[in-house]
Amino acid sequence: MRNAFAYMTITAFALLFLNIYSATATRNLMFRSKYASAQDKLQVVTSPLSGVDTLSVETVRQVITVLGDLNVTRLIVTDASGTALYDSSQSMNAVGKTVLFSETVQALSGQDVFTCRYENGALKSFAAAPVMTRSVIAGSVYLMEYDAGQGGIIASLERTILRGSLILLAAIFLFAAAFVLVGSQKMRAILTSIRLAREGEYSHKIQMRGTDEYATLADEFNKLTDKLLESEKTERQFVSDASHELKTPLASIKLLSDSILQNDMDTSTMREFVADIGNESDRLTRIAQKLLTLSRTEDENGETEHEVVDLGETVSRVFRMLVPLADRQQVALSANLDHGCTILSREDDAYQIIFNLVENGIKYNRENGSVHVTLRREQEEITLTVEDTGVGIPADALSNIFKRFFRVDKARSRQAGGAGLGLSIVHEMVERNFGTITVTSEENKGSCFMVMFPYFGVEEDAADAENV
Ligand code: ADP
Repeated sequence: MRNAFAYMTITAFALLFLNIYSATATRNLMFRSKYASAQDKLQVVTSPLSGVDTLSVETVRQVITVLGDLNVTRLIVTDASGTALYDSSQSMNAVGKTVLFSETVQALSGQDVFTCRYENGALKSFAAAPVMTRSVIAGSVYLMEYDAGQGGIIASLERTILRGSLILLAAIFLFAAAFVLVGSQKMRAILTSIRLAREGEYSHKIQMRGTDEYATLADEFNKLTDKLLESEKTERQFVSDASHELKTPLASIKLLSDSILQNDMDTSTMREFVADIGNESDRLTRIAQKLLTLSRTEDENGETEHEVVDLGETVSRVFRMLVPLADRQQVALSANLDHGCTILSREDDAYQIIFNLVENGIKYNRENGSVHVTLRREQEEITLTVEDTGVGIPADALSNIFKRFFRVDKARSRQAGGAGLGLSIVHEMVERNFGTITVTSEENKGSCFMVMFPYFGVEEDAADAENV
C-alpha cells in the first residue's frame, strides 16, 4: 500500500517536471524566434534611416512608406533627444512627444534591446536599436509586437501536455488502486495462512494462481508447511517408536516382578527372574543412552568444536573395548590401517561411529566369523571400511538401514541388545563431520560399510601399512 503511494507520488512529481520543462522549452524556442525576427526588422528600419542626413518627421515617414508593412504592432522612430518622429499607432500617436519607454532610452544610449514575455495567452516582444549616422546616435527605432497566434500555440501545447499528464496520472492511480486492492487481498490470504500455521495447522494450503511474487510466496509457504507436516509426522513417529521401545522392557520388568510377588517360587527361579529384571533395566538404560546421544547430536549440529583425530588410534581404542564381546561371540577382529589417517572431527564422534559399526559387525555375525577394519588415505580423502562375514542385510532393507528404530530382524536385534538407533546415530555423526557413508551387503555373506572423510593432514609422510 505504502509502496504504491510512493510510486504515485514519484510519478506525479515526474509529470510535474515534464510539464514545467516542456512549457519552458517551448517558450524559450518562441522567444528565440521572436528575437531573430525583431533583429531583422530593426535592421530593415535602421539601415535606410542611417543614410538620411537629418532625421525629421518627413524624412522618416518617406523611408517607412518605402519599407511597406513590417508586420509589427507598433513602430516608433525618435530623434537623438527621444522625441517621436514616427509612430505607427493611430490611437496613442506620440509624434512630437518625448518617448520614455525604457527600450528607447537604452537604445539612445547605444544599446540594442530585446525583451519578450508570454502574458494572458499572447507573446509580447519589445525591441529597440539606435540609428547610427556617421558613428553618431541620430535617433532610435522601437518596435512592439503583440502575437496572439503564437501565444495561442503555446497555450494549447501546455494545455495538451497538462491534459495528457492528468489522464496518465488518473490511469496510474486507477492501476495502482487496483494493484493495491488485489495485492492486499492476496497478502491477507497469506497472512491468514501464516497465522494458521503458527497455531499448528500445517495442512492448510494457500490456493493462489499466477506467477507473481504473491504466488511465489504462497508456493514457498506451501512447501514450508509440507516440510513442517513431514517433520511433525517424523517426530510423532519417533515418539511413538521410542515409547514402544521403552514400553517393552518395562512390561517385561512388570511381568517378572508380578510373577515374583504372586508365585511361590524357589530361590534359584527367583534369582533368574531378578537377573532378567536386571537385563531388562540394562536394555532400558542403553536405549535411553542412545536416545540421548541422538538428541545431543542434533542439538550440537551448529557448533564447531572440531579437533584433529587420528582414526588409526580410534580404531585401536574401539577394538580394546570390543574384544570381550567379539570373544564371547567367537568373532575375530582384524585391521589394516594406513598411518596418518587424520580427520577434523569431534573425538567422541569418530569413536562412536567406529564403535557402532564394529559392534554391529560383531552382533550380526555368525560363529567363527570375522570383522575387518581398513583405513586408507588417498590424497585428500580418508576411507574407513568395516567388513563382516555376518548375516547381511536384504537388498530391500538397505535404503532404510539408517532410519531411526529400523531393524531387519527385530527379534535378533533385540536379543543382541539393539533398538535400531545405532546406525542413525552413525549417519548423523558422519554427516556433521563432513563425511559420507555407503553400505553394500549380501545376505548370509556379510556387509561392508564404507565411510569417507576429507583428509585433514598434520604430517606428509607416505602411508605405511600397519597390521593389527
Ligand atoms: P541396532 O541397535 O538394532 O543394532 P542399528 O541402527 O545399529 O540398530 O542397526 C539397524 C539394523 O540394521 C539392525 O537391527 C540390523 O538388522 C541391521 N544391521 C546393522 N548392521 C548390520 C550388519 N553389520 N550386518 C547385518 N545387519 C546389520
